[in-house]
Amino acid sequence: MKGAATYDEYLALIKSIKDQDRKTWFNQTEAKLTQGEEKLNAYMKKKRDELIGNRKYIYDAYSPSLMFHYAKNDIMHNALFEIFKRMPQGGNLHIHTGATWDNDKFTKMLADDPNVYVYWDPDAGLKPSYPNGKLYYLKKAPTSPNFYNYSKIAKSNSPVFMHSKKMLTFIDPRVDDIEYIWDGFNDYFIAVSSILKVREIYKKYYVAAFKHQYEHGNDYIEIRAGVPALVDSNDAEITATEPSKSAYTAEPPEALTLLKAAYREAKNSGCPDLKVKAIVAPSRRTSKDPDSDITEAMAILKCIPEWQRKLKDDDDSEFIIGFDVVSEEDINHRTQDYAQKIIDMRSPVSFYFHDGESNWVDNDNIHSAWALGTQRIGHGINLYNFPTLLGKIRDEKICLEICPVSNQMLRYTKDLRIHPIAQFMQQGVKCVICSDDPQIFETAGIYYDLWEVYHGAMIDLSDVKELIKNSYTYSGMTTVEKTQKLAAWEKKWQKYINEIQSLISL
Ligand SMILES: [Zn+2]
Repeated sequence: MKGAATYDEYLALIKSIKDQDRKTWFNQTEAKLTQGEEKLNAYMKKKRDELIGNRKYIYDAYSPSLMFHYAKNDIMHNALFEIFKRMPQGGNLHIHTGATWDNDKFTKMLADDPNVYVYWDPDAGLKPSYPNGKLYYLKKAPTSPNFYNYSKIAKSNSPVFMHSKKMLTFIDPRVDDIEYIWDGFNDYFIAVSSILKVREIYKKYYVAAFKHQYEHGNDYIEIRAGVPALVDSNDAEITATEPSKSAYTAEPPEALTLLKAAYREAKNSGCPDLKVKAIVAPSRRTSKDPDSDITEAMAILKCIPEWQRKLKDDDDSEFIIGFDVVSEEDINHRTQDYAQKIIDMRSPVSFYFHDGESNWVDNDNIHSAWALGTQRIGHGINLYNFPTLLGKIRDEKICLEICPVSNQMLRYTKDLRIHPIAQFMQQGVKCVICSDDPQIFETAGIYYDLWEVYHGAMIDLSDVKELIKNSYTYSGMTTVEKTQKLAAWEKKWQKYINEIQSLISL
């Protein structure tokens, strides 16, 4: 006979299965919470239960099952929001250049600069299409009436200003009307792509962005960085027919030199224990000449050891820690397209492949990442399709960089209760929580993402601690740097636990 013969046996069967699952849980430190942490853990659980309340079975009634642009306001007013916001959140191991800062602050900075213009063609209608909304830094006032002076239209809050500003955020119902969501995402990167190549703007942007993320709880950042050729202004670009091409030599590209300078400047202006490292990440976008895309990425990879040597941090640790290729995976170059050349090159550079950002079972980028010896995996969403590979990734402690808000807004996992992180943690896969593109999703630090995982995957405070500590343990830092960061974090965490208890009167 199948099934339990007695009620006691039935209860024992269920307990045994739950115990076995618990043994593979990624965090085995649950019993080690201090008394203060236990109090906070119980408070958080009570508040989460209250939020679920008696509406548990109503679709969309619970914030993690609601798209973030509709849930964000509720999350900001939730009882646990301040608890996550004030938390020392460790490192953010997955954030991109170009979407690193904060949209209100960014547009304000642009509106204060008389040389900033936005291109807008009124005949294109209200639905912006390229290059409507594209921002430029022009020293010579353009003759075409389609270039609007940004500070002027900002002052009058003109429709062009409002429409172009909306293109820079996903926290707006307009995203519901975008059929293929990566169109909206790419529009954003096109809109900022020229202005963020202007040296003066570039440096200011990253100093401010690193400070902003530090002030919102991350004292360590690993940034996926493109290497565009920088310019003094966009004047030549608006008349040129061909975009300028970059050449890669043993000299580090200015985009990386200035990125490091911006990090050092942020550190020296009120962020004493900030550390930033870069993963050089050209796009995997497929152009009209697919072979040249691969050749260009490989030219970059080949130069990285020299760039690493020349751009060491002041404590002699690496500023550049590795290589990746980024952008949407399902329609662009597969990781396999780079494999032969990567293998032939025998590069000593570490890989942090941005793979598995897909729901498709026939997307095997994540297999390529593993077979090429990746240190971590950016996203790894579709790993749930591959149990054998999942076992390898767990056993080899290849950490997944999980970006819950991004995964939801780009429509991979629209209901965060069924985000595969719950399964990954259940099976013992190492994970960290990251923000991906905080400027587009209007998040900061990683506290919105932590809030979503806490509520969506029903984890507890010890799991949150583990996710945060993993951001140092599985980072590209040296062992010495990791030890220092973890020790400093423990102190910050204890201070936080003490302060938060008085804040919520536990
Ligand atoms: Zn990403």
